Amino acid sequence: MTGEIPCVAGTADMWFSDVPADVDRARGLCLGCPVRRECLVGALERGETCGVWGGELFLAGLPVPAPKRNGRPPKNAAVLEAQLHQQMTMRIDAVLQSA
Ligand code: SF4
Repeated sequence: MTGEIPCVAGTADMWFSDVPADVDRARGLCLGCPVRRECLVGALERGETCGVWGGELFLAGLPVPAPKRNGRPPKNAAVLEAQLHQQMTMRIDAVLQSA
């Protein structure tokens, strides 16, 4: 069973990386995880302080839409942030309802 769980099968470093590309890759690997829902529910209940859990990035106890990127933010950063937040909320709702 553990062989099917990506963060257990290899190193879990990517799930706790500060590198946005690593975070994106970890989130992608979570999508096929057989315990994704349980993992996400547990992380939400515990208020995980960091890392990728159930396909979502957690910081300071809450899921966040995306890792912080270096460089100057785009002019429409607030709009993009709102869109990413809405997409994240829809993803989480879909996973939680997939029992
Ligand atoms: S959903 Fe949870 S258990 Fe599965 S790979 Fe992602 S972090 Fe690991």
